[in-house]
Amino acid sequence: MASKAPLGTMKVPAYAAPTKGAALIPFTFERREPGPHDVLIDITHCGVCHSDIHQVRDEWGGAIFPMVPGHEIVGNVSKVGDNVTKWKPGDKVGVSVLVDSCRECAPCRSGEEVYCLKGPSYTYNSHEQDGKTPTYGGYSSRITVDQDYILRIPEGMPSDRTAPLMCAGITTYSPLRHFGVESGQSVAVVGLGGLGHMGVKFAKALGAKVTVVSHSPGKRADAMKLGADDFVVTDSPEAFRKNSETFDFVLDTVSAKHDYDSYLGLLKMDGTMALVGLPDPGSVRPQTLTDRRRSLVGSQAGGIRETQEMLDFSAKHGLAADVETIPIQRINEAFERTMKSDVKYRFVIDIASLSA
Ligand code: NAP
Ligand code: ZN
Ligand code: ZN
Repeated sequence: MASKAPLGTMKVPAYAAPTKGAALIPFTFERREPGPHDVLIDITHCGVCHSDIHQVRDEWGGAIFPMVPGHEIVGNVSKVGDNVTKWKPGDKVGVSVLVDSCRECAPCRSGEEVYCLKGPSYTYNSHEQDGKTPTYGGYSSRITVDQDYILRIPEGMPSDRTAPLMCAGITTYSPLRHFGVESGQSVAVVGLGGLGHMGVKFAKALGAKVTVVSHSPGKRADAMKLGADDFVVTDSPEAFRKNSETFDFVLDTVSAKHDYDSYLGLLKMDGTMALVGLPDPGSVRPQTLTDRRRSLVGSQAGGIRETQEMLDFSAKHGLAADVETIPIQRINEAFERTMKSDVKYRFVIDIASLSA
């Protein structure tokens, strides 16, 4: 049997955080040349997710440096391996939060690869399935990905406004669908950021009555423009009291530590609050759940099949993110502004700026 030739590598320009919490700086690294099942993608746009900031600052522990963040990737296929059947050069494609998984465990077999029991290969700050090759994300000019972990961007969708769907989109679409949000229900979206503003659009498209619950009074007009039916500012205990037991479903996208009990109190009897935001741990008073038989659940981004479904749903309903497009040279400023909730509503890097 012929032994497998080792894959060649190519140099890829990028921006990276060299160490924990450091500013991002220009960086060049090696990616594998596409193997038989791989696709090479020339990246055109990459969204800036708050998870990029958490991970550069190593707020979840175990971060790998140097780190090239970015898991909201859109680009064009430039080369495919010999056994690639699904893609051809020129196709407009996306890469989400994962680039591989074991393919054998129950979640992988049922198309929920992001819940892979072995652990998916996340798009960055992670390892390939060999357990040792680091993954590098979309703040870079090119990425090599197995053909099964790529998404098709429906015709006519703008690349810059579609990039954030690869994480912010699927992370809000998935729990809304999985927990059965439907027409006529009353839904609160907590936090009007990258995730939150997509949550509003999806919940509206599913027919729910949507309220934005925000700590930023200045976002009221935008919330209504995005399609919300109501807006609540969480500036006092009174705001929580006035809106207690109002919602069937609460989608909590908040990135900073907050009091879960206050938000759970917004749920009706038998209501569900889904956490997607990942701040430092907080506590919950059991009675807040038991007194009204409330559920507290969590949800990760989503598997490949559901991510494609979300893109197709977005195309059908004309949905995309509201973005501020920036050159990569402004990435550190974008992190600072995201920390201040000062972005409408997602920064997206124009990757052409890497070669400027
Ligand atoms: P983002 O754009 O920064 O939005 C977060 C929003 O949280 C802000 O816009 C703000 O909304 C609200 N917020 C911030 N500080 C707050 C505070 N002190 N008290 C109350 N509300 C506050 O972030 P994002 O990209 O949407 O991500 C949100 C969170 O989801 C992050 O923790 C991220 O890591 C996590 N995430 C999880 C997954 C997953 O798989 N589960 C995927 C992607 C992201 P207002 O100004 O309206 O209050
Ligand atoms: Zn993300
Ligand atoms: Zn698996």
